[in-house]
Amino acid sequence: MDASDRAARSRIINARGTFTPLGVSRSSVAVRDAVASALADFCDMDEMQRSAGDALAAFSGAEAGTVVHCASAAITVAVAAAMTRGDADLVQRLPDATGLPRDVVLPAIHAVNYGHPITQAIRLAGARPVLAGNDGACTTADIAAALAGASPCCLLLVSSRLTRGEAMDFGGTIQAARQRGVPVIIDGAAQDFRIRDLVALGADLVLVSGQKYLGGPTAGIIVGRAGFVAAVRAQEKGIGRGMKASKEAIAGVIAAVRERQLLDETAWRTAQDAKTVAFIARANGLGGVTARAEPDPTGLPFSRVHLAIDPAVARHNAAGLVGALKDGVPAIFVMDHRVGAGEIVLELVQLRDDEIAAVLERIAALVGPEVSSSASV
Ligand SMILES: *Cc1c(COP(=O)(O)O)cnc(C)c1O
Repeated sequence: MDASDRAARSRIINARGTFTPLGVSRSSVAVRDAVASALADFCDMDEMQRSAGDALAAFSGAEAGTVVHCASAAITVAVAAAMTRGDADLVQRLPDATGLPRDVVLPAIHAVNYGHPITQAIRLAGARPVLAGNDGACTTADIAAALAGASPCCLLLVSSRLTRGEAMDFGGTIQAARQRGVPVIIDGAAQDFRIRDLVALGADLVLVSGQKYLGGPTAGIIVGRAGFVAAVRAQEKGIGRGMKASKEAIAGVIAAVRERQLLDETAWRTAQDAKTVAFIARANGLGGVTARAEPDPTGLPFSRVHLAIDPAVARHNAAGLVGALKDGVPAIFVMDHRVGAGEIVLELVQLRDDEIAAVLERIAALVGPEVSSSASV
């Protein structure tokens, strides 16, 4: 590894959550070992995908599973699978979808941009996104109306930051699609902790990233009905060729899933809560800073820290503080989606204790001297 590569990595503290432009997550030693050892060997790729499928089925409660390059690729090949049902000739013909059902129904509030528009991931398969509802809400009736045409599938999204408008009735939507014989795909890229819940909702396929909270290498995990998963795998001989999982990604996903299954989730959650509580206590001692915990909006098992910044006392407003944190060494990245409301938001899940201490120290230096507890009453 070259010195500038190492420097680019060590200069960053990521309190933004599983953020793709910052390398998403850090993998455990077990995952790194699995990846390294796969790189050293030949393997039977079909056999590796079968092992991954077994591991993912046990992990998620779904009938079957497979691995592709990333969650974005998973969206494209899942849509391709819904259009072709795995027919070999059709698989080779895509993205020419002439004569195939191609109107993929997507709630308008889920037409997000996670680095590119999700509608492009749909169009890459040769499909046409049809947006249901409006920018503020999507009801079950809106879905039913949009499904009136010949739809290969309905795509729903679960995301803590990207979706807009009112929360949707997933159960009702899935039922409405079912009644019309239309399969439902849920993109829950960062929802690996909740993969069982999403499968249990009755979705035909659930997609999650291997590299987000699961801490695997970059990979797209697809679980769901066995026939549908087989149709996904069939895309490897079509548009999925450029979206296939590497042997090291599959090995890393299997290792990450094994680790997750061994995780004591109650103890993990307690440890996350303790980090948050300690951080908030320290942050509340800083002039112009009011700290509080806010549960993850999608129900992931941890809270975020919201820091309300009073610019009259803190020498920075929220947006200025985000910039100043990023401009220091190491660069500290926090969530900026609430700066309009005067808040910066941090996710501490991936941070080590020394990094949390460095973040508090930097915020203290930027907002001014720490107010002693006697002075603050
Ligand atoms: C991160 C994310 C993606 C893209 O995941 P990749 O694995 O980076 O392709 C897609 N959808 C949502 C909701 C995401 O959060």
